[in-house]
Amino acid sequence: MLQSKLFTTTRREMPKDEEAVNAQLLIRAGFIDKLTAGVYTFLPLGLLVLRKTENIIREEMLKIDGQEILMPTLQPKANWVKTGRWKSLEALFRLKSRHLETEYALGPTHEEVVSPLAKKFVFSYRDLPFYVFQIQNKFRDEIRVKSGLLRGREFLMKDLYSFHGNEADLDKYYEKTKNAYFKIFKRVGLDGLTVLTFASGGTFSKYSHEFQVPTPNGEDEIYICEKCQVAVNQEIIKQQNLCPQCGNKKSKKEKAIEVGNIFKLKTKFSSAFDLKYKDGGGKEKDVTMGCYGIGLSRLMGAVVEIFHDKKGIIWPEAVAPFKAHLLSVNHQILDVNKFSHEVYNTLQKNRIEVLYDDRDASAGEKFVDADLIGIPYRLVISGKTEKKIEIKKRNEDKTKLISEKELIKILKR
Ligand code: ATP
Ligand code: MG
Repeated sequence: MLQSKLFTTTRREMPKDEEAVNAQLLIRAGFIDKLTAGVYTFLPLGLLVLRKTENIIREEMLKIDGQEILMPTLQPKANWVKTGRWKSLEALFRLKSRHLETEYALGPTHEEVVSPLAKKFVFSYRDLPFYVFQIQNKFRDEIRVKSGLLRGREFLMKDLYSFHGNEADLDKYYEKTKNAYFKIFKRVGLDGLTVLTFASGGTFSKYSHEFQVPTPNGEDEIYICEKCQVAVNQEIIKQQNLCPQCGNKKSKKEKAIEVGNIFKLKTKFSSAFDLKYKDGGGKEKDVTMGCYGIGLSRLMGAVVEIFHDKKGIIWPEAVAPFKAHLLSVNHQILDVNKFSHEVYNTLQKNRIEVLYDDRDASAGEKFVDADLIGIPYRLVISGKTEKKIEIKKRNEDKTKLISEKELIKILKR
């Protein structure tokens, strides 16, 4: 992509109404724009990151037999009354239609839609188990939204729901999603940085699990066991001070970001919607359910909170908007201009994603922008590099002068 054609530009000055590092950097670098508190537009660069994250998550969901669907955001009040959450869920956005006093909820989560949906297709044990997921914007009337993408009133979530004939089957699938979640967090660059955290399971289960990324700017507090590296959240530490995994007493407190949450719902929603099936002997039983969420936009914010320095963002390769950022410095020199174009075309022919800074801007400006935007490989062509390209990784200082051939070899890896 030509940077000269990009409709957004970077900003030097800090946005005045943002405290969170992720929002400050993402706004300055031109990935997102704030519409109002907790509500952001994803600009071309930001949407590329979000789509890459989405693809990784989708791939891993398909691998555990998830079937993708898309449920409505607009949900009838009656479904929410049935589960009691029309009243109890404080963050629910409620709205009135002008027709017949009809009221709706804006989906903050989709148990109230997916459970009655499943009822239309589940009759006998032969119809179970199955797993459906979607990637869709959610709405929650959060009280405090000062953490940028970490807490939005509108935000992107992947939510998976599983339906089983018995608890043993749910338990098996629950472990499978746990593994899939670790794969996802590894793939987006958070390998070894995501901590499995025991959380309250509500009235139906002892525990649920959160996937927490420790960082000083996290909103949550977790207690990581010094022995087995599993954590508990604040709800659990109040009930017990022993590690639920290994029984150890000592833990260290850390701030963290909850990027995912898995939950055994058991029969909580199936009983509300009378979702039953007939077992092998023809006996009616409640369907057992699980739900599994990942906040994609929050995950993007978390990645920025973890991977940045004073100059800007340092994207992990898998979710970077482009693999390479080609800077044509002294673009007005005809040879530089021609060679830059040639390299740009070669990169494209080799299907290497590249942002090409072909603007008539100063060298300083281009370098500062490249650091702010944070694409993994910076490639410089200038009056000094002749027919070579200076390559530098965003997270390293050392530069190397290489030929076009070598460049393709490195970037194709
Ligand atoms: P939190 O405790 O942070 O309010 P939650 O436990 O209510 O979140 P879930 O209902 O489990 O969240 O939602 C699944 C995932 O969606 C969370 O793990 C998180 O990654 C993301 N998420 C939840 N609320 C928000 C929000 N307001 N903005 C961005 N992402 C969110
Ligand atoms: Mg949670």
